[in-house]
Amino acid sequence: MIKDLRFLKVPNSKGGESVAIRAMTDKYYMVSVPSGTSKSGSEAVDLQLDVVENRFFPLKDKIIGLDENNFEQIDGLLEQADGTNNFRKIGGNLSLGISMAVFKAAAKGEIWRLINSFATTFPFPLGNVIGGGAHGGNTSIQEFLTVPIKAKTMEEAVSTNKEIRETVKQQMEARGWLTGENAEKALTTSLDDIKTLDILSSAAKNYGAAVGVDMAASQFYFDGRYSYDCLNKSLNPAQQQEFVENLVKTYDLFYVEDPFFEKDFDHPAKLTANVKKCVIAGDDLYATNKALIAKGIEKKSTNGVIIKPNQCGTMTASLDAAMLAKKAGFYLIASHRSIETTDNWISDFAVGIGAHLIKTGIIGKEREAKLKRLVEIWNATDKPRMAKLF
Ligand code: PEP
Ligand code: MG
Repeated sequence: MIKDLRFLKVPNSKGGESVAIRAMTDKYYMVSVPSGTSKSGSEAVDLQLDVVENRFFPLKDKIIGLDENNFEQIDGLLEQADGTNNFRKIGGNLSLGISMAVFKAAAKGEIWRLINSFATTFPFPLGNVIGGGAHGGNTSIQEFLTVPIKAKTMEEAVSTNKEIRETVKQQMEARGWLTGENAEKALTTSLDDIKTLDILSSAAKNYGAAVGVDMAASQFYFDGRYSYDCLNKSLNPAQQQEFVENLVKTYDLFYVEDPFFEKDFDHPAKLTANVKKCVIAGDDLYATNKALIAKGIEKKSTNGVIIKPNQCGTMTASLDAAMLAKKAGFYLIASHRSIETTDNWISDFAVGIGAHLIKTGIIGKEREAKLKRLVEIWNATDKPRMAKLF
């Protein structure tokens, strides 16, 4: 039984504070909630912390005394108390905090086991080596990622990404191309999008790793065109499709996220049909929303989906979204947000749903907490193995 529920605030990676919720049953179970910088227009709305605190107290009264094992019913209660389709009344950050804290209490701290106690496959970590776009940096593309596809263990996968980041950092530093780091601790550079891909793909090759990108293309789509400022290019959607297809071929890209504006389900479908051995993932496109994922399945818009629980506001909705996409044969990618805390529930979530990939960044305490948890779960699992990709 939930004997107490507390609202707290914890520091986040942008120097601000994020919502934390602590549920008490036999023990205390605390979680905190991240937030995004490049958000989809379809995701749950985060409210300011002082507003969230006010919305918390009436909910607390309704939830204390309930059985944490009825977490689905409690998620239903959150949806009902909100009454909107995007948690704009109580806040998606408050809703997910309560939902996740209750789920963690029901799981007695081992979230992955409550999702699937037979889970044995582990997601490959997508390492955000170089950043740009809305996350800060010169390029229009938001994330230049590595995938250590040859790694046989979680530990090896984590250290490969770290080594690649260090190599790229040294190379860029030596040539005067390094300008700093962004909120995810991805490197920032004075190079343009193409030269950035050149340097990353040659470094990754030396480690047997593949390369991917999160284009977050909604962020540089204006008046029907994709603008690559540092490349002096402005592309219409058909030209964008050709450009991305060429990038996939030239760099043997393994992963492309959000290559088009988030309302466009048709160009991604053409891209997905034309590429081979490449995960085309929808993040802003789907916003972890079941109806949008169903539309993407029907239109064959992508072959992968990003699942970010804070985009939909409850654990039940996150699990439903993941299972719908899994049934359709989509690759599942669990993901952190750019504004993170040191909480690590996303790692449990990723293992529990059988994600193929996970985005958690490479260095920094908020990111490393999640990688450490993946290794910890690996060590607690019978016959663990990395997920099957292509
Ligand atoms: C992303 O776009 O995948 C991402 C992690 O960034 P944000 O949290 O800013 O949406
Ligand atoms: Mg994204």
